Amino acid sequence: MRDRPRYVTIDDVRYEIVWKAPPKAMGTCDAPWKRGLKEIWIDPRLTGKKLMDAIIHETAHAANWNIEEHYIAEAATAAASILWRMGYRLK
Ligand SMILES: [Zn+2]
Repeated sequence: MRDRPRYVTIDDVRYEIVWKAPPKAMGTCDAPWKRGLKEIWIDPRLTGKKLMDAIIHETAHAANWNIEEHYIAEAATAAASILWRMGYRLK
């Protein structure tokens, strides 16, 4: 994979993107109110639509921390599915 971004700012909160596999998940996101460095972890072994889904999923948590997991998962998977069907791919 090329161009792995290192940082993203979501709702004025800066996150470091850590390309490591979190235990028992495809990704994780720190709460926006956590003190100090906040991280979004993405499993670097993911590819294709699963990678897209994980990135959308974790950034959605960062932007909407109080939304239940079920809704985040549904929206992220739907968004990834639409983008995938539209032909979005890593070069
Ligand atoms: Zn989640």
